[in-house]
Order: sequence, then C-alpha cells, then structure tokens
Amino acid sequence: MLISMKPNATTEEIEKICEKIRELGFTPHVIPGAQRVAIGITGNPGPIDPQHFAHFTGIAEMIPVSKPYKLVSREVKPEDTVIHFENASIGGEEIAIIAGPCAVESREQILETACAVKEAGAKFLRGGAFKPRTSPYSFQGLKEEGLKLLAEAREKTGLYIVTEAKDVQTLPMVEEYADIIQIGARNMQNFSLLEAAGKASKPVLLKRGMWATITELFMAAEYILSQGNYKVILCERGIRTFETLTRNTLDLGAVTVIKQLSHLPVIVDPSHGIGIAASVPPLAKAAISAGADGVMIEVHPQPSKALSDGPQSIGFQSFFTLMKELKKIARVVNRKIT
Ligand code: PEP
Ligand code: MN
Repeated sequence: MLISMKPNATTEEIEKICEKIRELGFTPHVIPGAQRVAIGITGNPGPIDPQHFAHFTGIAEMIPVSKPYKLVSREVKPEDTVIHFENASIGGEEIAIIAGPCAVESREQILETACAVKEAGAKFLRGGAFKPRTSPYSFQGLKEEGLKLLAEAREKTGLYIVTEAKDVQTLPMVEEYADIIQIGARNMQNFSLLEAAGKASKPVLLKRGMWATITELFMAAEYILSQGNYKVILCERGIRTFETLTRNTLDLGAVTVIKQLSHLPVIVDPSHGIGIAASVPPLAKAAISAGADGVMIEVHPQPSKALSDGPQSIGFQSFFTLMKELKKIARVVNRKIT
C-alpha cells in the first residue's frame, strides 16, 4: 500500500501517519517526490484496511501496489532515483563510468589503472578485494590489503571506489573502505547479505544473478530497500543461456524493461556479459543506447597477465577509444559524460 500525500502536507502530518503505521506493526518508508511525498508501507502480510487512516489529514489518496516488489517499483516512486556523490551521480543525466580491473592485484597495478581510467574520464574505480571464484584454487583477492590499496587509489585520483562484499562477515570492512558496495551475481539471493547491505550506510550495486529473472532481481533489491537503504543500483551482467561461444548472454532488453518498471538506476557490465574483450566496446555502446545509466568495464594494464578475467579485460588504449565513442553516444541519447 502507498499513501500519497497532498502536495502541501506538513512534516507533522507525515510523521503522524508513520507513527500509525508503526503502531500497526508495519514499516513506513517516506518517499520524497517532485510533486508530493508518498509513504510506502511494508511488512504487512495482506491488504491494509484504509479505515485505519480515515481521520488523518494531508492524505491525497491511498493506492494498493499491485507488484510483488513495492519500494523498487515505479508505482511507488514515478521519478528516477538519482544517487548523488560529491562530484558525480548515478541515475540522472550523467552516464556513470565505472572501470578498473576484475581484482586488485598489486599497488602498482591498481594505481596505474586508476590514473589511466581517470584520465579517460571515469569517475568510479572498480576492483575486487574479496573475489568469489569458481575454483577454490584460483586467486581469491588481496582482502583487506586490497581495500587499502583501493583507498590509496581514491586518495590519489579522487575516483569513487566500487568493490564487492562477498559475505556478511566482511561486509562491515568493505563498507568502511568502499563508496559503493557491490553484491555479486552469485550472491544476488544471499538474503542475509542483502539484509545486511540494507542496513549499510553506503549505496549498493546489485548484480543480476546469471540464473535470475528480472522480477527476482527486483525482489532481491526489495530486500535492501525494505531495510532502509534506498540507494541501490541494479546491474545487468549477462545471464546463462544455451549459447556457449560467449561467457553469458548480455540481456540489454532487460535494461529497457527495468527502466519501465523501476525507478532505480541500472547499469550494464558488458565484460562479464560477453566474456570477450573485443566485444566489450560495442556492447558498452549498445548499453548506453538502450538507456543504461552507466557501464562497468574491466580494464587491466596487461590483460594477458591478469589474475582473473583477463580474456574479457580491455587495455588502456581500448578504454580511451571507447570513452571517446561513449561521449558521442551519450549526447545522442540526451545524456552526458563529463
Ligand atoms: C565482478 O564484477 O568482478 C564479478 C565477480 O562479477 P559477477 O558477480 O557479475 O560475476
Ligand atoms: Mn571479473
């Protein structure tokens, strides 16, 4: 259920309704909008009797939410969510460029990459310190040492840090160093991790599971929002299909559907989506054309020497060329890369 307030409703009127919702044992979510404030209600097992709110002032209308995902849906919040950073934003006019290696491997590697992607125009640096790997014998990441190196790279370049939290235990440590906490595809339905991220103070980048439907992605995001963290960025990163020549099948159609059904920003990761470095630039361009709010690209100083995901990582030169092209495409779709 959504309570849509009158445009001139006072803070006091809003707070009184929130109090009533809590008294009923449910959770109120105040959602500011351009025209009016709305109050989403979660935690109710079934429909709520509107009579509970009959004598409250300031209410314009009470709207039942038809979708299973509530806070994530455009029904509840028609305007796009924009996540603001001091010097960047995700979900507004600006296209977010997140670039960097799959994993932080060394001080030299991450600093060199940070400087290169910054020069090319990226505002966010990615790099895993805790790596979820298919094999326990593969490089697992530098862990806290990797996080420290990312913080050093931020210090040096001003780039914001996007890095993965692999489990509930290490989430607080990741939260301390990261500007955006990434939840990986394999963890999309790790409900304890989603709930913990919902209590975190930093925005969350939630990747679509390689087996997950769009509705399941929305429901996973709902776990985070329902805990009070409304700063969620969805990420399409390819799904498993019968195709074997590509690592995954990048579902750009999903971007257009997500945009229709949800107010949350959506970015695309063509690197994991295709798994082939040469195919990454054309897919990144297609993603922006399809309406994505940003792209996340794996960039490595020497892709052939990368400790993880080398075959899908592009070098600095390709990234520079790609950025020039993305800037042109952004203009065509009325967006910008600054
Ligand atoms: C990553 O971004 O490095 C990663 C592990 O991606 P995914 O969770 O999408 O496989
Ligand atoms: Mn990777």
